[in-house]
Amino acid sequence: MTPLEDVQRLVLEACTPLGPAEVAAADAVGCTLAADVVAGEDVPPWPNSGMDGIAVRAADTPGRLRVVGYLPAGADPAGLAVRDGEAIRIMTGAPMPEGADAVVPVEEVRPGDPRGDEVEALVGVDPGRHVRSAGGDASFGDVVLPAGAEVTPGAVGVLASLGLATCTVVRRARVGVLSTGDELVEGPGPLRPGQIRESNRPALLATVRAQGFQAVDLGIVADDRHAIRAAVETAASTCDAVLTTGGVSMGEADHVKGVLDELSGGTFRWFQVAIRPAKPFAFGTVAGTPVFGLPGNPVSCLVSFELFGRPGIRRRMGFTGDRLWRPVVAAEAPAGLPRRPDGKLHLVRVATERAAPPAGGQPARWLVREQGSQASNALTAMAVADGLALVPDGDGIPPGGAVNCWLLS
Ligand code: AMP
Ligand code: MG
Repeated sequence: MTPLEDVQRLVLEACTPLGPAEVAAADAVGCTLAADVVAGEDVPPWPNSGMDGIAVRAADTPGRLRVVGYLPAGADPAGLAVRDGEAIRIMTGAPMPEGADAVVPVEEVRPGDPRGDEVEALVGVDPGRHVRSAGGDASFGDVVLPAGAEVTPGAVGVLASLGLATCTVVRRARVGVLSTGDELVEGPGPLRPGQIRESNRPALLATVRAQGFQAVDLGIVADDRHAIRAAVETAASTCDAVLTTGGVSMGEADHVKGVLDELSGGTFRWFQVAIRPAKPFAFGTVAGTPVFGLPGNPVSCLVSFELFGRPGIRRRMGFTGDRLWRPVVAAEAPAGLPRRPDGKLHLVRVATERAAPPAGGQPARWLVREQGSQASNALTAMAVADGLALVPDGDGIPPGGAVNCWLLS
């Protein structure tokens, strides 16, 4: 058996980053930037008010002031100016008029006369108070988003604030998904003896999409060496990563390993990973495309994707370091996570919960509880789990004991 980390390292090495592409900002979410985003203009473009109130000369406050104008957001301040003893009513986001160097918020202003020609600033303000300076968010020439950063919805906002419609990202990975098995049927029809309903491909396609990868459905392929070979060759030449399920165990109809061995130009590896579930795993590159031979058992298939597929494909999309991995938290298992020694790391499907923080400003505790059957074909437990607890070889975690846990969502 091969330790998990050794297999992960080998997979990551083979999953080289994809090339750059210029895409519409809205289509870039979940990708990493392939180039710095540099501000081509100041944001905001001119000094403006941070509050609804009156634009003033700070030196005139507190005191009574004559109102000489009104500036809502969107108004052009040309021709308006604040001189000694004067104020201009100003709304949040409106440009600061000439002569004014501060804003007194409306809450601190009292009408000075019934007609509204005069106001009284009740407080004194310093120069610059409630004024947002030009370039305060981003200045011309600033690197506002560095290469390698993930494009978040916030980053889309930044691009829009700079008037940028596109950005250059590491290409979004096209991930082909195919399942193998003569027993598999799709859809609601009756099952003939020996048949089961296919679940791996729908689950993988869903998780691939949920990760922000582009999913390519390559269908079900029969347990036939030639058919599998043709499907894998086509997949590898049209996708940036290929996920196959089934056919990597010890059975006579397990052709995926043999096909990968033929096609992968010596890069093929077949592992018995020292984990449970998801022990069998085949991997190789075909025409430069990583092919992940995930096990057929439905839980193993999804766990194997989490452990190898997700970080590998994220590396292809330009993620590095910690950003390749799910967050790991130190958790407590109130009911324990018992197991027996077998030389493997157990990845226990758990529900996670954040317990209310104890008094005294300590961080909240994470609690994990085992979900249903842990058998590698028991998909319902996987469906409700949102964590994988890493239970090392031995007798498991006693009630109340500590355990590290991957957060899956
Ligand atoms: P295999 O790795 O091909 O020997 O499959 C292991 C187990 O997983 C068998 O019980 C298969 O019937 C089942 N299995 C394989 N592929 C799928 C699939 N796509 N959907 C549901 N179960 C599957
Ligand atoms: Mg099979």
